[in-house]
This record gives sequence, structure tokens and C-alpha cells, in this order.
Amino acid sequence: MKLQEVLSKKYQKEIAQCSDEELYAALLEMTKEMSSEKVKKHMGKKKLYYISAEFLIGKLLSNNLINLGIYEEVKEELEKAGKNLSEIEELEPEPSLGNGGLGRLAACFLDSIATLGLNGDGIGLNYHYGLFRQVFENHIQKEVPNPWMEQNSWPKKTDKTYEIMFGGFKVQSRMYDIDVTGYGNCTNQLHLFDLETVDENLVRDGIAFDKQDIEKNLTLFLYPDDSDDAGRILRVYQQYFMVSNGARLILDEARERGSNLYDLADYVVIQINDTHPTMVIPELIRLLMEQGILIDDAIEIVKKTCAYTNHTILAEALEKWPVEYLERAVPQLMPIIRQLDNRVRRDIKEESTYIIKDGLVHMAHIDIHYGFSVNGVARLHTEILKKNELHHFYQLYPEKFNNKTNGITFRRWLLHANPELTKLITDLIGDGFKKDAGELERLLPFVQDDSVLERLLETKRAGKLRLKKYLKEAQGIDIDENSIFDIQIKRLHEYKRQQMNALYVIHKYFDIKAGHFPKTPITVIFGAKAAPAYTIAKDIIHLILCLQELIAEDPQVSPYLKVIMVENYNVTAAEKLIPACDIHEQISLASKEASGTSNMKFMLNGAVAIGTMDGANVEIAELVGEDNIYIFGESSETVIEHYEKADYVSKEFYEKDRDIKKAVDFIISDTLKAIGNSEQLERLYKELICKDWFMTLLDWRSYMQTKERIFQEYEDRKTWAKKMLINISKAGFFSSDRTIEQYNEDIWKL
Ligand SMILES: *Cc1c(COP(=O)(O)O)cnc(C)c1O
Repeated sequence: MKLQEVLSKKYQKEIAQCSDEELYAALLEMTKEMSSEKVKKHMGKKKLYYISAEFLIGKLLSNNLINLGIYEEVKEELEKAGKNLSEIEELEPEPSLGNGGLGRLAACFLDSIATLGLNGDGIGLNYHYGLFRQVFENHIQKEVPNPWMEQNSWPKKTDKTYEIMFGGFKVQSRMYDIDVTGYGNCTNQLHLFDLETVDENLVRDGIAFDKQDIEKNLTLFLYPDDSDDAGRILRVYQQYFMVSNGARLILDEARERGSNLYDLADYVVIQINDTHPTMVIPELIRLLMEQGILIDDAIEIVKKTCAYTNHTILAEALEKWPVEYLERAVPQLMPIIRQLDNRVRRDIKEESTYIIKDGLVHMAHIDIHYGFSVNGVARLHTEILKKNELHHFYQLYPEKFNNKTNGITFRRWLLHANPELTKLITDLIGDGFKKDAGELERLLPFVQDDSVLERLLETKRAGKLRLKKYLKEAQGIDIDENSIFDIQIKRLHEYKRQQMNALYVIHKYFDIKAGHFPKTPITVIFGAKAAPAYTIAKDIIHLILCLQELIAEDPQVSPYLKVIMVENYNVTAAEKLIPACDIHEQISLASKEASGTSNMKFMLNGAVAIGTMDGANVEIAELVGEDNIYIFGESSETVIEHYEKADYVSKEFYEKDRDIKKAVDFIISDTLKAIGNSEQLERLYKELICKDWFMTLLDWRSYMQTKERIFQEYEDRKTWAKKMLINISKAGFFSSDRTIEQYNEDIWKL
């Protein structure tokens, strides 16, 4: 189909006469039609359902054009008429149906599942306002709704509706579908369930709304504020709504394909993405029992169909719901959950694995006892699960545990995000790497070729210029493309240690004030949303924004150092930031980051990491070798030991290291208090010297020394370009195509 045909039909106009809005609407229509033609009717007996509370899909237009194989064609057709595809793409709103890595992973997985031609759909919720849009006001994060559905939008209304029962009332759901086009392959679906009666007018003053009015608020926001009971119980309603709809869809489709339900596991496999969809297990058992299947049989059937992915060892994410919440929101599930718990208590001595304890339902325990597979998301993470966090479960079920190191889709994170680098690679090794990421290794011999290294540095410069333009337009900020771009972009969390990076900025500020100027100026860029109720995380954002202003206003320092906090960090911003990056910060406290995926995106785009031996950094370091990554800090073993012995005292580090003390003290200096808010700065200061739960000060000296070394080594441009090229050539392992092949081979068996 040609764009011109759609335009003639829709507007009776030529491309050149159309506005960008009209072109966007026409491209959307054309893309939807072309991708729906690629939906396969018969894809075999067994089907995967990837259930997730989050799908951080990003903008879809360009990605769909790439995967349909018509991106270049459309771009040229538009160019001939004087139109620019990237400008048209700007009009597309980005849905914020996810929070960070876990949601982005789900989106990359859907892309790879379709690209590999596997029979698998996603199941989630259609949040009208997503997570939230972040705005900065007076150096403080403010949350506002992020509406993304427009008249012309990607979700397609289907006629699938279900009646969902809650305690005391029922609601009507409707399914919306977003096409997921594989690269040169079939189209799968992302099914997003919504409530017919949602009322957007409920929202007032930022993201506040009446949390009690379930029939009107259920799908307004992802992760409503859970700092009170009403917010927490709303999450239970959301989770049940998601899985009850999902379970019915799954059973309907299985029966259509010929299942008699007893043989469900031959027709269905369900991947449970973290604990949010856990209730799908008791809900499926309940629905099977409604069909006359005895509970023992129902449990056995479900056990063979559900697999669980663990994403974190942080306690906050291993959800535990009070029994009374479940009794209130979903009373029909509690008898089943009690049965599941009773069986564990009957068969197993180890009390720590029980499902109901002290009035709390441990969701992960349901997944592990009643699923057939438990996987971690990077090698180190899976080892820590087996050895520490889930050790008792591992002793019970060693055969269930397996590792699936995360991956990213190269279509979005290379082909779409970095056309200059894609072209260079294609010129050097052809385009086989687009389907087989392992071919990137063929770039290795070019480390000896100076002209290739030159060209590689030019692609980096192009990335920097694109980011410069973006930041100017989005935030009115000027950055220097000749400076070193040092970037940390990820959710704001103390374990990710943005505060350590900020303390380094303070140190560097003093250094420059003392007359020690860096050879090349440094631009430190942060991007991060903080959970609305996470006070210390918001204090860290506040500190960074204060530093940004302090340094920008200081004529002595600003020629050498710049700090920027990107507003509303999301997939679109990531696509601009990553190709521009020289040094990426992966500085979590060892043992705390399950995998990380931004580390993989950066590596693929020729940035060099400074990182701890944590998550997938371990595997990256192994692949690129120690000369091509900057590792610092204590090992996960040491950190775990500190936690076990409870012997880390941050104040000792503060008192014995003068540079640390000076940097930490600066947080509550009159200089910073003149810019920011004393209460927030004092709170952060106290947190660092009295608690520092994630051991910032433990690793700070080693971090600081490593950064100094990096800035020196950056000056040797040729050696640096070699590091870049080696990172790119070794990135193939982190293609989500590889990850999905492994899921399919070991778990799904489609
Ligand atoms: C990849 C990605 C993440 C995950 O980043 P980590 O550094 O791995 O935590 C979060 N948000 C967005 C928008 C991403 O694209």
C-alpha cells in the first residue's frame, strides 16, 4: 500500500498539501492496516501469554514502519514532497504504560516473539493516564497525568467483553488490541483490558483522585499511590481485573483451539512477569472448577501452565497482600488461596515458604509452589536467588530454577535510535546482523582500521548533535557537543545510587573551583522518575536540580562542567540519549540490580560503562574484557556479608575520608540552601550519614578514582574508539531474540 493512496482516499490531497497531523493520521491508518494483514490465523496448537502489569512500548509509528520493512520507502516518499518523518513522529504521544526496566523488557519481548514468528500475545491493562508525566517546579518533581489515547490511536476496540466480579459488585470489561509487528514476520497482539465505566474527570490536582470509586477509577493510572490503604487495595482490584480477564481469554482461546481443559498445558503457557499477575494462578483454578473440574485436578493443570519471572530481590517488590484486602476485593479467591496454602503446610516443613503468614499472602510463594518454572533475569541474579533470597525454595525445587539473561530489541535500540551507526555497521559487515545479532562480532577486526575508528567517532558526534537539538526543543537547554557525555538514566532509587553520582559532581565542582580544570568539559546527564510517595528519591532529584542551577550560574565552573536532569525520562528520551553517550553509569550496589537493560542499550550504541559487578554488568564485563569497561566497588559477596552482619556504618566512612565529608556536608551548605529547600536537603544529608542503606559511602572513593581515570583515558581518542567498537561487536548476546529463543527452548516449548 502506498501512503499517497491513503491520502487520496482520506483527504483527496497530495502529500505536499497535507499537514503533519494529517500525514500522521494517514500513516497510522496505513500501518494498522498493513500490520493486521500479517496476523496469522493458524499458528499451531500451543500459545504463550505474557502477562504483565506494564508494557513500556514507546512510540510505535517508526518501529512499525521498520518492522514492516517500509521505513526507508516512506521516508523517501515524504522527503520528495518536502516532509520530514521524524517531525511527523514527534506528534505521536508516548504511552507511559510502564515504570522502568520490567515494563520495557515486556515490550522488547513482544517484539522478539513476533520477530521469531512465535505464537504469543501480551496481556495487560489499558491505563488512561499511564504512570505520570514528570514536570519540575522549583527544583521539585511534580506528577501530572499523561493522557496518551487520542481519537486516532494504536489500540483497536474489540468486541470482547467480560463481567468481572469483585466483593459486592461487578464490572464490565472491554479488550483493546495493539498490533505487535515482528521484524519481517507475523503480527501478534498486545491485549489491554479496560473498564467501560472509567471516568477521567475523577482526576484533579496532579494525579490525585477518589481511590474508593473503583468503578470509575480502576484503569486510570498504573501504580496508584500506595501510601494509604485505599491505594493499596486499589492495586489489588487492578491486578485481579487484569488476571481475571486474561484467564478467561486464555481459556476461551484454548477451547477454540480444541483443548478439553484437562490438556490445557498442551495449548497454553503463561509467563507471569513479576508478582503483579500472580492471582492468575488461583483465578484459573477457580474458573476450571466452575467448569466442573475437581480442585486437585485443577491445581495440577495450572501447575503445568504457569511460569514465573523474578525481577528483584528488593523486599518492596516481593508483594505481600493482607488477607483482609483480598477478602474484601476478591472474596472468591481466598478459599482457593487457603487451599493452596494448606497443601504447602501439609507437605512441606519449611515455614518460610508458606503462602499465608501473619495475615499476609506472599504472592511470590504462590508462583514458586504452583508454577513449573522460576527464572531470574541475569546470571548473578539467578545465583543470588538460589543461594540467598529463595534458597529454601531452591532446595525444594532445584529443577524449577533457571536463568534467562535479559535482552533488548535491536530494531528499536539500534536500527531506529541510531541510523548513523546502523549505516556504518551495514557498510562494514552487511545487514545480516539485523536478523542475527551474533554477526556483530564480525566488526572486531576493524579495531585495527583507523578510518573505521574515525567514522565510529563521527557517528557518536551525530548522536550528540541530535540530543542537543532535542534538549533545546524539549527543555530549552544548551549542551556542548564537544564535551564528554556522562549519562545515568533509570528509575530513581537509592539502590541505583544516583546520589553517588551527585556526590561526585559536588567533588568535581570543588576541584574546578580549586583550579583543576578537566581537559575536555564534562556534561553529566540524569534522567529519572521517582515514585510519588518515595520521599528520599524525590530529595535526590531535588539535590540534582539544585546542582544543575548552581553550576550553570557559576561562570568559573560552567565552562567545564554541566549537570542536566532531563524532564520526564521515557523511551523517547532514551532513544535520543543513548546514541549520544560516551560513559554510562551502572553503579547500583552490587547484588541489588537484578539485570539492568539500559546497560545493554548503551553498549550496543558504543558507550563505555562505569559499573559495579552487579546484574548483567557481570556478563558484559566478561564479554568485553576489563580494558573495555570500568569496574569499581565492592563485590556482591562482600555486600551480602555486610547485610548479614549488619556491620556497615556510613558515618565511619564520612568521618575518615575528607573528600567524602566535604561533598556530603555541601548538601546542607548555605550555598545549596539558598537555591533549594532546607528540609529536603537536611533529610537527604541525614539519610546519607545515619542510614545509607545502599552503601553509597562504602564505594564512593573507588568510584571517584575510577571516574578520574576514565576522563584521562577518554583523551586518547583512538584507544577510546576501540573500546567503543569492542562493546558494539560483543553486544549480540544481549539481543532479546536470544533471550526469547532461550525462554522458548527451556520453558515455553512452542
Ligand atoms: C531501558 C529502560 C529502562 C531500564 O533502565 P535500567 O538502567 O536498566 O534500570 C527504564 N526506562 C526506560 C524508559 C528504558 O528505556
